[in-house]
Amino acid sequence: MNDLDSELLEGLFMKQGFNAGSLEEADVAVLVTCCVRETAENRALGRVSRLKKWKEERPGRYIILAGCLAQKESEKLRKNYPYIDYIVGPGNIFDLPVLLKEQEQKTILVDKLNERHKGPIITYRRSSFRASVNITYGCENYCAYCIVPYVRGKLVNRPVDDILQEVQALIRKGVKEITLLGQNVNAYWYKGWKFPDLLKTVARIEGLERVRFVTSHPKDFTDDIIKVMAEEPSVCESLHLPLQSGSNKILQRMGRRYTFEKYQSIVTRIRQYIPDIALSSDFITGFPGEDEEDFEKTRWALESIRYDTAFLFLYNPRPMTRAASLSGQLPYEVKQQRLARLIEIQQQISLQINRQTIGETVSVLVTHPSPRYEEQVVGRTRSDKNVVFEGTPNLIGKLVRVKIREAYPSTLIGVKCANEKVFP
Ligand code: SAM
Ligand code: SF4
Repeated sequence: MNDLDSELLEGLFMKQGFNAGSLEEADVAVLVTCCVRETAENRALGRVSRLKKWKEERPGRYIILAGCLAQKESEKLRKNYPYIDYIVGPGNIFDLPVLLKEQEQKTILVDKLNERHKGPIITYRRSSFRASVNITYGCENYCAYCIVPYVRGKLVNRPVDDILQEVQALIRKGVKEITLLGQNVNAYWYKGWKFPDLLKTVARIEGLERVRFVTSHPKDFTDDIIKVMAEEPSVCESLHLPLQSGSNKILQRMGRRYTFEKYQSIVTRIRQYIPDIALSSDFITGFPGEDEEDFEKTRWALESIRYDTAFLFLYNPRPMTRAASLSGQLPYEVKQQRLARLIEIQQQISLQINRQTIGETVSVLVTHPSPRYEEQVVGRTRSDKNVVFEGTPNLIGKLVRVKIREAYPSTLIGVKCANEKVFP
């Protein structure tokens, strides 16, 4: 979400005549922040403090703080960090470059929390072959631990035509892979169009090789979605379906509105129709009231479902959220120990699953040069795994076939198939 905001901001600035560059040479520094977890918030504030000196080094420099931390703490930021020039909430990013160009002295722009940009967003994108497209903004689920509804506003569904026009424009520019983006994409609804209708229509747009979507919510995940995923060749075999906890007691306290059994039944059905689906999930350890028995249920869920990847977080009380004032808050050490146990288990599972791909030939969209070795490139499989293989930068943006030779928990190593057609 924040990556897309940064990308859109970059495009909007370029339209106004600005160019992206290094901090040393820059006149404007833009920080796109997140406040879902406290660590991200603290990191952002640390960077703001360091930018003070940067600003003082040359007159005429600007600091802009954008994203959900800006929305959450606008007044406090203005008071404690008076050298920030603009504080811009997620709903206001489209206003910023124009204001900056006109040098208008408005420091806080957070009034569009619940409204969003209308029309297709046709602007510069960093990648010419992969792009994310918002289909919804905000969220109204109010999971007990989550700050998103308070800082990204209520759910706004983008009009179907805006989404389709944006996807078509991206494909015309050479984009091969689109990710449909929203906090709960499965709840998409616009004038009778539901998520499976939108997914099917996007999947059938000529020229699109791959489509993904994130994030799914188990309470809104229906068989119609599985049907589209199974029937449309461009829909990738990967699904991020956060479970959060394996304990029904904790799921209820979290306000997630599904049970572990309902979640299991979705997994069974998706694996029945798409046997090679790669599953990933989010989990929180140490939610208030989580006892050893609840944690064991989560551990068991992780071990029995066997995800390709899991994003594991320790519970972090966030302001405004219900969970922050729930009884049964756990000591940091307990949350940390539980997190460490899950990380260890998941590393093993990811390794085992990835090792099963050794010997397979997979389609890879080459994304960037290897940061480690000059003669290697990195790409993504349809199952959303990283693959490193020997190749030259001219392969970037192309689809190639790679035979997997080695596997690690988060990376596959392969060899590009010889004499294979490289798709433009
Ligand atoms: N909308 C998505 C969903 O419903 O799964 C995820 C949104 S949230 C930005 C990403 C993940 O951060 C969540 O799935 C959750 O695991 C984690 N998260 C959110 N709030 C948290 C908190 N207070 N403490 C720890 N993890 C949290
Ligand atoms: Fe947060 Fe729940 Fe909305 Fe996801 S669905 S953004 S976890 S409130």
